[in-house]
Amino acid sequence: MEIKKAENYNGKISTLRRNTTFKTPQKWDVIVNHITEGLMPGTLNWLTNVKKVETSPGELHYAAEVSCHFLVTRKGEIYQLADLHHGTWHALKRSPSARIVKERSAPPNLYTVGIEHEGVHKETQGRLTAAQYEATLWLHKYIIEQYEATYKEPFLVDRDHILGHYEVDTVNRSITDPGREFPWEELLTDLIKWDKERKTVKQDPKNGPYVNDKGERLWFRVLAGSYKTRAEAEAALKELESKGFKDSWLMAAYVKEK
Ligand SMILES: [Zn+2]
Repeated sequence: MEIKKAENYNGKISTLRRNTTFKTPQKWDVIVNHITEGLMPGTLNWLTNVKKVETSPGELHYAAEVSCHFLVTRKGEIYQLADLHHGTWHALKRSPSARIVKERSAPPNLYTVGIEHEGVHKETQGRLTAAQYEATLWLHKYIIEQYEATYKEPFLVDRDHILGHYEVDTVNRSITDPGREFPWEELLTDLIKWDKERKTVKQDPKNGPYVNDKGERLWFRVLAGSYKTRAEAEAALKELESKGFKDSWLMAAYVKEK
């Protein structure tokens, strides 16, 4: 799967509201799914329209007045419209039903990644094409991996962190964004399965890493008194290190000179 850069993509924001850019957003750890209510190519042109219009004297607005990070088309193409590290204007907080959005005081646009899905709700009720589903599933995994590469911690793959626009704004958005038929169950089931599989440690009986029947990593300790000399104990530590056990796991080791 590839990500196409939208025309006008500048690594920042292709469309902005009120001529402003968000200051460095906070840690982005929530994905918000949308429906475009428009079809290609118009919907992409609209999202990337950099034409400015004067809405009141001296105040220039970008024509679309919204922005998002990604657009997934019905053909299964993925367009990137803004860098993940730049906030976009896609989800205003209005009487949210989502737990995280309720709890946090920060505007959701500062900590969410926005994915638009090409579609018109009255025709599809948010149902995705097969190609579009595959693309958005891939894109969710991509964003999760980008999060983990950036913040060096696991992304929490659950419904609290993967939302629909209707859960951020219950006033101006209803169930129709992204829609009643949006494949929440399939998406979460597929993502959780993938998340579990990639975290399962593969056992190599000869060289480790050593795991139990459940695939959980076993801890090794070099106990005081297990070795006659420090040199022997250190040799054991070295051997474990050479098999891929990192420093942090060896912190449990305690070596005492006899
Ligand atoms: Zn939306």
